Amino acid sequence: MNKSAVITTIALTVFVAGVGIYLIGYNDGSTGREPVIAVPAAAQVTSPTGTVDDRDVYYPGTEALAPDEMRVVACGTGMPQPRLKQAGSCYLIELGNGDKFIFDMGKGSTERLAALGIPTDQLNKVFISHLHFDHAGDFPSFWLARGVNAARQPLFLWGPGGGQNRDWGIRGWAEKIKQAWAWDVATRESSGDPRSTQLTVTEIDWKKVNNLFYDENGVKIYSIPTIHVDQSVGFILEWSGLKLAYSGDTAPNKWFLEHAAGADLAIHEMMLPPDMWLEKYSMSHQAAVMSGTQGHTTPRAFGKIMEITKPRMAVASHMQNDFDTAPILEQEIRTHYQGPLSLATDFMVWNVTKDKLTTRMAVANPESYPPPAQVPAEPPAAGENSYQWDPFSFTGLEPRTSAVTNEVVQEFNDKHGADIKPVLSNMPFKE
Ligand SMILES: [Zn+2]
Ligand SMILES: [Zn+2]
Repeated sequence: MNKSAVITTIALTVFVAGVGIYLIGYNDGSTGREPVIAVPAAAQVTSPTGTVDDRDVYYPGTEALAPDEMRVVACGTGMPQPRLKQAGSCYLIELGNGDKFIFDMGKGSTERLAALGIPTDQLNKVFISHLHFDHAGDFPSFWLARGVNAARQPLFLWGPGGGQNRDWGIRGWAEKIKQAWAWDVATRESSGDPRSTQLTVTEIDWKKVNNLFYDENGVKIYSIPTIHVDQSVGFILEWSGLKLAYSGDTAPNKWFLEHAAGADLAIHEMMLPPDMWLEKYSMSHQAAVMSGTQGHTTPRAFGKIMEITKPRMAVASHMQNDFDTAPILEQEIRTHYQGPLSLATDFMVWNVTKDKLTTRMAVANPESYPPPAQVPAEPPAAGENSYQWDPFSFTGLEPRTSAVTNEVVQEFNDKHGADIKPVLSNMPFKE
């Protein structure tokens, strides 16, 4: 290569690299407030036997949060219709000050939260937007699973009240859950810390606009009403100069337009267009239009909302996000909105600081075990464990199999220097 060819090659390389750096900067948001997608770091692979620094995915538990950073993990992005791929609505919000919040807990979300490997006691603040089961259905499972998943501290729950029937508010709902699961709690008392089922419920007046109902540790959470049958709310969280807006279920509403404007992350519900309800769910024309457009937000209206509110990242959630639906959804959204967009699916994760916003997928652990408890165990107080077995059960004990159980307990005691009594299997046998 002669000298001018070398210079031309260098110049071209510099130009291409410059364009690449500009595009990368645009894509990961490092050039300003217009972020889209994290950039793969494949260029860092230098050794066939080494490791890759950045796989462009999020492995839960491997990344510390910076003091000014917010991480949001989608633990449910779906609908009432059951499907393996998407649980009912659920978003985990983790802040650099150590606080963690769960917005909605739709059916199927408990497993996804558990798959992140976060100590259960750190997941102790749950906010429910409304009491449809695709937003609240997993709350009983989450609450009951705490004791068997190393939780030793109480749980706090917020949700709407003030509707037409006092019993339908979150406080009445939670009381009925406690009643419905009283047998489970009583019979499980000895295997879980008694504090794990303690529940404090705070009701939010659903009609209040920009209603500051949580203000602790520098975190402010406001509720806004939604248009989705009464007693439904959306949430706006502000912390350290960052703003997250969560619409809940709603038709396009003026409260979101006003109070979610300029959010860093704007998570808004969105339904399939009515045609797709006909095609996918064999609905009548009437049902397709009602499901797709009323009390909910169409993709085109979602685009309009984001065009008006101009978030740093618009997140569409609460829709079937598949290979064939996604292109149609995006086309409809783009009728009005050309800015940064995520079509949410379960385990999508956003990291947000003032300077940078990235979107990745989390790689969750399907075989997770709970991390160890955060505080020492507290045994039930004397007399607190009041559940008494019906003696009938013990008439079913059988000497040959009970002997095997007792042998296992003895081996455990010998190995660990313990003296645990096999209280059931060493019962005297009844003929
Ligand atoms: Zn709903
Ligand atoms: Zn819903």
